[in-house]
Amino acid sequence: MSSPYPHMLAPLDLGFTTLRNRVLMGSMHTGLEERGDWDRVAAYYAERAAGGVALIVTGGMAPNKEGGVFPGAAGLFTDQDIANHRKVTDAVHAHDGKIAMQILHAGRYAYGPDCVSSSAIKSPISPFPPRELDEEGIEKQIRDFVTAAVRAREAGYDGVEVMGSEGYFLNQFLCLHVNKRTDRWGGSYENRMQLPVEVVKRVREAVGPDFIIIYRISLLDLVPNGQTFDQVIQLAKAIEAAGATILNSGIGWHEARVPTIATSVPRAGFAWVTKKLMGHVSIPVITSNRINNPDTAEEVLSGGNADMVSMARPFLADADFVAKAAAGKGATIAPCIGCNQACLDHTFSGKLTSCLVNPRACAETELSYAPTAAPKTIAVVGAGPAGLMTALVADQRGHKVTLFEKDSRLGGQLNMAREVPGKEEFHGLVHWFETMVAASGIEVRLNTEATVDALAGFDEVIVATGVTPRDPGIPGEDRANVLSYIDVLRDKAPVGKRVAVVGAGGIGFDIAEYVTHQGTSPTLDPEEWRKEWGVGDPAEVPGGLLEPAPPAPAREVTLLQRKAEKPGKRLGKTTGWIHRASLAARQVRMLGGVTYDAITDEGIVLGGGDKGPQLLPVDTVILCAGQEPLRALADALIAAGQSVHVIGGADVAAELDAKRAINQGARLAAAL
Ligand code: NAP
Ligand code: SF4
Repeated sequence: MSSPYPHMLAPLDLGFTTLRNRVLMGSMHTGLEERGDWDRVAAYYAERAAGGVALIVTGGMAPNKEGGVFPGAAGLFTDQDIANHRKVTDAVHAHDGKIAMQILHAGRYAYGPDCVSSSAIKSPISPFPPRELDEEGIEKQIRDFVTAAVRAREAGYDGVEVMGSEGYFLNQFLCLHVNKRTDRWGGSYENRMQLPVEVVKRVREAVGPDFIIIYRISLLDLVPNGQTFDQVIQLAKAIEAAGATILNSGIGWHEARVPTIATSVPRAGFAWVTKKLMGHVSIPVITSNRINNPDTAEEVLSGGNADMVSMARPFLADADFVAKAAAGKGATIAPCIGCNQACLDHTFSGKLTSCLVNPRACAETELSYAPTAAPKTIAVVGAGPAGLMTALVADQRGHKVTLFEKDSRLGGQLNMAREVPGKEEFHGLVHWFETMVAASGIEVRLNTEATVDALAGFDEVIVATGVTPRDPGIPGEDRANVLSYIDVLRDKAPVGKRVAVVGAGGIGFDIAEYVTHQGTSPTLDPEEWRKEWGVGDPAEVPGGLLEPAPPAPAREVTLLQRKAEKPGKRLGKTTGWIHRASLAARQVRMLGGVTYDAITDEGIVLGGGDKGPQLLPVDTVILCAGQEPLRALADALIAAGQSVHVIGGADVAAELDAKRAINQGARLAAAL
């Protein structure tokens, strides 16, 4: 049978070595390295190698203390470090995989007082102004890159990736945005590009010819005074001449105000930029960003956009991505939904990286779904994310699972999330759950309200009945001009032109997004999306940075909350700014510190300000005031003497999200 993914699965001959396919696992910080649990690091990468990926790039390793992303960031500084990394490379090689170590010098993004850069210009995302390096300081940085590469080779790595994009150290020399120098490292582009070229040249000299050097090149800076595309091509050619084996695409500095990997970014939304480089160099070129399934990867490659694809987060979601695609089981690949909730949000809050759809990511040695020695009959009530994950893991372990759902379909609250523009990836997540359940031994009873009697006789009963909207008790809330988010998202109730949203949590933001959109979601219309966020062609505008031109909002919306803090403050660490910017672009007014005095036919009367009660004239009020656990069944079971496990929103509704629900379900099922 011919493969559905001939381009993705084709080997890539690098001359001195061959990659088994065109898939690179991109660099992701896990946090495991800093904790020193190297068996766990090795197990994490080994599972990905066993899953068929051709080449893995590790999380960024600091070349020196001043270049570490944060104080104490891991690097190859000592012989013990080399021995630790040996565990990783041996484990990957045992599965015929290849692995390169990323050398990441953060420059002025290093979160510490010793940070250094081309010029002493503080970044907007760090409180620490960098020290401008002198000639000797620059030479030291180059030497440290070289030393890191040599040590990586000693540790058994197949190569290194030199991080030259995303606004990190080398990128800071390339762009006038930061580089204000007047010596031989500043001024003309030839001068500014000397540093990355020198680093690659010296690394190549030190490691010899048969060692992979990937250079991550910033194709689209997305900051003021970014590189023109002629400059990018000039750099790419010089980097090739300096000895790089592969060029990997970097898109956007971390301080850029354009989302580059969030779920609302169109799939493969930046592959067109990589394509512009194709033909200008003779070494392979990799594209990246928002490629999360084999069909998209194949389309990108067959369309001549790149020689290889890089995916990072999709390998957290499913270690077996390549093996499943190769076996014609693409639909069983757990999809990365681009949410950042368990990966980047964790990284930036100092927690271990994991994955919303795969709680085993980075927990491979700790969370096992091994077959049970004592199969049980298990009833799971509720087919939202918590119930579905419990059912799947329990079934995988050999238990006999019956899944009750009162609705006519699986998915629970995920079915509402997927209605929101920019959250289309939730369709894929529901589809994956449906596929996995259909392929399992789970007995599914849809349209079935589970009763105490029906649940008698099961060895274990798991209640995942979810949540119900909180009643805010506002006088007048039973009027016809008041809707709940369920009326809007699920039942498609008509919404007026002027809207007040009560509650500015995750759902309030989603509703504001939903009612201000009209027509095709920009996530599904890349040209519209680029207009909205101001992404231009770097051949026409330096750095690809344009003035954003968002569409006119479909409705006039005011988003309300009682807390006197900035609305949206508690949204995801790496995505909250995107939600806030998106709503600001749609002219959504955000008001904190209000009280809700009454809802009338004219609108909602707000208190809390100096001027006394004020009418906010609106046609529709949408209640998004949080949620309460739905525990009636759990309480009835307990009263009847049945022992139950209560999980997900039915357990705790506050701050409920799919990450907690899925994690709780998986861990419970692993323990049954
Ligand atoms: P939430 O995030 O807890 O927000 C509830 C909102 O309602 C808050 O703004 C709260 O603000 C307000 N509120 C609470 N009690 C109220 C009352 N008695 N009267 C009036 N207002 C009240 O809950 P949610 O929006 O329902 O979202 C549920 C969870 O789903 C979220 O926590 C989130 O994790 C997840 N989710 C996440 C996303 C995302 O984008 N990551 C999107 C959707 C859902 P005040 O108390 O200050 O008024
Ligand atoms: Fe993807 Fe979300 Fe998992 Fe991160 S947590 S890997 S973004 S699904």
